[in-house]
Amino acid sequence: MRAACTLTCSLLALSLTASAQTPQVFGYHDFTQQAKWDAAFLQVPDAKLAGEHLKTLTAAPHWASSQQDYVTAVYVADKFKAAGLETQIVPYKVLLNKPVNIVIEAFSADGKKLMTGPSVEHVDPEKYGGDPFQDNPDIFPAFNGSSPSGDVTGEVVYANYGNLADFKKLASMGVNVKDKIVLVRYGSNFRGVKVYLAQQYGAKGVLIYSDPADDGYFRGDIYPKGPFRPSSGVQRGSVQFLPIYPGDPQTPGIASTPDLPDSKRIPLNELKGNQPSIPANPLSYKDAAPILKCLDGAVSPREWQGALPFAYHVGGTGKVTVHMHLEQDTALRTIWNVIGTIEGSDPTQKDDWVVAGNHRDAWIFGAVDPNSGTAAMLETVHGLGELIKQGWRPKRRIVIGSWDAEEEGLMGSTEWAEQHAGPLARAVAYFNTDVGVSGPEFKAAAVPSLQQFVRDVSKQVPSPKGGTVYQQWRRDQETDATNHIASSLGANHIGSAAEEDVRVGNLGSGSDYTPFIQHLGVPSTDIGSEGSYGVYHSAFDNYNWYIKFADPDFAYLQQQARVFGLEILHMADTDVLPYDYQAYGKDIVEYLQVAQRHAATGKLSLDLAPALAAAHRLESAGAVMRSHQISATANIAALNKALRDTEGAFLNPEGLPHRPWYKHTIYAPGEYTGYAAVVIPGVNEAISEPDAPRAQAQLARLTEALNRASDILEGAAR
Ligand SMILES: [Zn+2]
Repeated sequence: MRAACTLTCSLLALSLTASAQTPQVFGYHDFTQQAKWDAAFLQVPDAKLAGEHLKTLTAAPHWASSQQDYVTAVYVADKFKAAGLETQIVPYKVLLNKPVNIVIEAFSADGKKLMTGPSVEHVDPEKYGGDPFQDNPDIFPAFNGSSPSGDVTGEVVYANYGNLADFKKLASMGVNVKDKIVLVRYGSNFRGVKVYLAQQYGAKGVLIYSDPADDGYFRGDIYPKGPFRPSSGVQRGSVQFLPIYPGDPQTPGIASTPDLPDSKRIPLNELKGNQPSIPANPLSYKDAAPILKCLDGAVSPREWQGALPFAYHVGGTGKVTVHMHLEQDTALRTIWNVIGTIEGSDPTQKDDWVVAGNHRDAWIFGAVDPNSGTAAMLETVHGLGELIKQGWRPKRRIVIGSWDAEEEGLMGSTEWAEQHAGPLARAVAYFNTDVGVSGPEFKAAAVPSLQQFVRDVSKQVPSPKGGTVYQQWRRDQETDATNHIASSLGANHIGSAAEEDVRVGNLGSGSDYTPFIQHLGVPSTDIGSEGSYGVYHSAFDNYNWYIKFADPDFAYLQQQARVFGLEILHMADTDVLPYDYQAYGKDIVEYLQVAQRHAATGKLSLDLAPALAAAHRLESAGAVMRSHQISATANIAALNKALRDTEGAFLNPEGLPHRPWYKHTIYAPGEYTGYAAVVIPGVNEAISEPDAPRAQAQLARLTEALNRASDILEGAAR
């Protein structure tokens, strides 16, 4: 604690001296004018107004394509227009399943019924204020997006988190999941990956439940007394095979505009790419407990034990049978993005877009996920509108997207990005926010070239706890390091005690930055502020939960609006694009060193020397470029073009093995993780396989990409 205090105090001193005069900001030759616009902007985002947006947007369930979803689109469009943005509501037609009749029943071997579900989400209305939203008739029952209809009956096997290692462990214990119904718990990987693996292992159905160990009473008091998941709380969610491709399942790579002819859509009976063929459904722990309790067979590995009060067994002995009856209405449905634009004023850079976005659709009310992000974004837009009134015009075009149907598989953002792939090849950044606020801890993920950019922006915004967002972020990370707390943002970074600065995580997937960075190579960031959030994707993620447990006075919505806004302002107006390719090269060197150790452990004979040399070359080229970025005064447009093209050079047009939609050679969602990024994915996944020839071929693709990037940087810095 002592060492930590020394660090924080010296930083505070530094930033105080810096604020006495206009600071030097990377990318700006003279920050004086920008500092004035920043100050004017920071005054606008209003906590109270943000709270009102949140209350309005979350008044009713607004599942993508519903009438209420359209009402929220109109609300957002009106706010965009009021701020002076050129605004359009942009429809797409995408394949979505809606639950019609969902029945899950479990029986013991002697035919006794153990449970019928899914239970309605409900808490005692007499205790701790109850929940004023839970009786809304428009709340959908527990279901999974992308699950097919089905009627299956089978014995139950418990497979922990449903990781690849868990299925291998079951096989090694002699437990076969073929033709069984697999019961897995939420956590560790993306739910679609659980179904992807269960299907590959021959299961006939999947039940995914929330164990109290992961977000229920084992973590703290349950709602409405505390923020954690009550026994009936269920996590809805998409089980699309997101690591294969996101977006509308019938139109990978092309936009599913309303006028797209049916002949351009993959026929439903040929859909196998990113859609499961076996039914899947989520359960609460109230519904899962009677099934788990009755399972016998081998006692589960001890690390598979959750927090229910009995020893977990793996089953597979015929003691428990489950019947899943799922009727889904799967159809093409209309969704609505809202797109707001502020034209750029610099003739050489007005076609270089700065894109920022957040999704608007929710499984139910979505107070945290995603409308805390929407409420904050609307106050960001409010601030941009005030600057426009004061005469400000951005150099580059600003495009703000309110995406629809993110929950079903990043549909609104993916279809829009596919439609605008041409101009987006010049986009200088995509800034994402999804969960804007679930508590007070600021978190960020970004490509390495923008990690310092995010830190710099966070130094200009005050924290509700005092000091700056940056200082509080740093204090939180020091506390978390002591307490070993992981989080969704920033958890994938391999950090060390010797790290000199706050950690910014890697971009995996599970939100709308995926089409921008991993399909189109647009440098991206994702920011938000996190806390004890146990009601994810349940009916209890509502305004009542938000004001009790996340942010009662909306101070963090205001903070989020300010940080998000400065990201947009700086990227739209900077003289030289503030990408740090030295940092990028350095991180890639580390990724390759880790891959080298994995290959050695697996006794794979690989030649990593050319790739390592190329990564070192990128690091050096990035260092030379950095000094050029600071000093250059002529040919700025050409310099910026080269800087932007460098990220594009990381794309491999062939894409990754058996998932060609993913073109980025450095980052992709892991085929077997989903949310978490796999770095240098082509190489690392081939090493894990293990498949030495494929790993060597992927190393060659990576080396080419890195050398293409260095060629561009070296050419421009000459
Ligand atoms: Zn979300």
